[in-house]
Amino acid sequence: MYELYFNRAPGTYNLQEMARMFLPSSEFRILDVDPLTEGTKPLPEKMIRIPDDITDKNEAKSYLFQQLSALTGQSPDWGILTGVRPVKLAGDMLAAAGSLEAVKERLQNEYYVSEAKANLIISTLQTQKIAMPETGPSLVGLYIGIPFCPTRCLYCSFPSYSIQGAAVGAYIEALKKEIRFTGEKMREKGWRPESVYIGGGTPTSLTSEELSDLMDVIRSSFDLKDCKEYTVEAGRPDTITEEKLIAIRRSGADRISINPQSMNPETLKRIGRAHTPEQVIGAFRLARAVDFSVINADVIAGLLDETQEEFSDSLNELLEQGPENITVHTLSVKRGSQLAEIDDKYSYRTGTQVGSMVADAYQCLISKGYRPYYLYRQKQTTGNHENIGYAKPGAESLYNMRIMEENQTVIALGAGGGSKVYKQKDKRLERVFNVSNYQIYIDRINEMLLRKEAGIFDDREETTCQI
Ligand code: SF4
Repeated sequence: MYELYFNRAPGTYNLQEMARMFLPSSEFRILDVDPLTEGTKPLPEKMIRIPDDITDKNEAKSYLFQQLSALTGQSPDWGILTGVRPVKLAGDMLAAAGSLEAVKERLQNEYYVSEAKANLIISTLQTQKIAMPETGPSLVGLYIGIPFCPTRCLYCSFPSYSIQGAAVGAYIEALKKEIRFTGEKMREKGWRPESVYIGGGTPTSLTSEELSDLMDVIRSSFDLKDCKEYTVEAGRPDTITEEKLIAIRRSGADRISINPQSMNPETLKRIGRAHTPEQVIGAFRLARAVDFSVINADVIAGLLDETQEEFSDSLNELLEQGPENITVHTLSVKRGSQLAEIDDKYSYRTGTQVGSMVADAYQCLISKGYRPYYLYRQKQTTGNHENIGYAKPGAESLYNMRIMEENQTVIALGAGGGSKVYKQKDKRLERVFNVSNYQIYIDRINEMLLRKEAGIFDDREETTCQI
């Protein structure tokens, strides 16, 4: 058992996160009391005490990183970067340092980021510079959540509910109320959606009639004249039908996401997905026939017992379908998922292999003309690896880039929706949440509207769209 004493260093939470990059939570503990009393020297071998004179956050992280590296023999690729958005940080560095070379040098020398990850950050930043236009003063991102799925995946930690027996009709009615309310408030302020993203859950768990009904209300509630992209995350291939795709396309969406996660039938069974690889291929065929301009496909590296070869075969099989976007996720084993209950050390056991999977995926996708355009890190991912969105040039998702760069107000509707609103006065983003339980959301819909009114649309608060 390792023992860590953070002393007077700020950012205890980040230090703890960093320790987790090296060790499972069960293998270290944080000391509340200074272990260094008169007569206790030297400290035991597995004890790290941040010295008294370190009071800077990054200095403390550097010290802990070096000590843990020396003790465990590991050197995690992301160094002392603990945040979710490394590309955003690199963008800020670029503004100050002036050149990409200087940013890369800082990432490697000050933040101990490996050369491979520093290159990844730099190339993602370069893509964003080309693909992400300036946002306008009245443009917002709009997210609409459908929290239902056909079954629950083994690794799922999202607040999603089985559609079987769920009060779907009541949920749609509450959501429509929130859509109309938000549309009215946005019109009063002269705000318009730059992008619309219907996500989940699995939005295509709904019937084609329910989808048309919902999307008709979206169309009539918002001024979509500046909307540059409209995405529906279809998600599970077993919920996709021609009728639904026609309904979605007719209602104005031009992008769709088909998320197989793996093309290996055995893996799909192991993770609790009821679809087959053939259904994925069928869903692509239908989506092409219905004329979606961009199809995204999600895969996950590190799924239960999936080998590197199987992962690579999955990726190649998917590439044969010609998706314009591919998002390569690293499995995240979060508390609340069934997998975390079965094997809480899964992330640490499989980290090295997952590292090779994501590195091979990078090489493969670059060689086929894709480029990374957004990336983010999550907690408890296998081997601490990241999630990367790749796109063919020109097919990048504006919504995804803006979410990661936090340079626009995003208004989220539906159960679990977390809006991010820019407050001019304090120059910061403020979050305005809806409740995540969908039944409570239905029961308390009027309260959700009041939260939006006060948190987003109150004129005294000086909220704006552009950051
Ligand atoms: S499709 Fe996504 S939201 Fe639904 S159960 Fe699986 S991981 Fe959770």
